[in-house]
Amino acid sequence: MLKSSLFSGLLAKKITKENPDFGKVINYRKILTRSAYLKKHPTVQTEDGIACCDCGELDIKEWGLLKRDDIKRVHSCNFCGQLLFRTIDRMPANDDDELAELQ
Ligand SMILES: [Zn+2]
Repeated sequence: MLKSSLFSGLLAKKITKENPDFGKVINYRKILTRSAYLKKHPTVQTEDGIACCDCGELDIKEWGLLKRDDIKRVHSCNFCGQLLFRTIDRMPANDDDELAELQ
């Protein structure tokens, strides 16, 4: 019987850098989806875009949750820093999934 030693040692070591963003992953699910945010704050939808529910600022900053091009997008107010809502950067058709998730 041949003993394969391939298995051991080849396991990719995941780089577990200390990541200050880690807390964001945990909190991510607590952030409202865009549709939930709009539902909760009907007045934030303006013709110029979505405004901050806290200060009314239209300058909303969008960033990737863990990395710049993360499909998990978090939107926060560029003025007061309030976390506003999250989106998934994927096919628009999947928007319904988010809605279904909420109902
Ligand atoms: Zn604000």
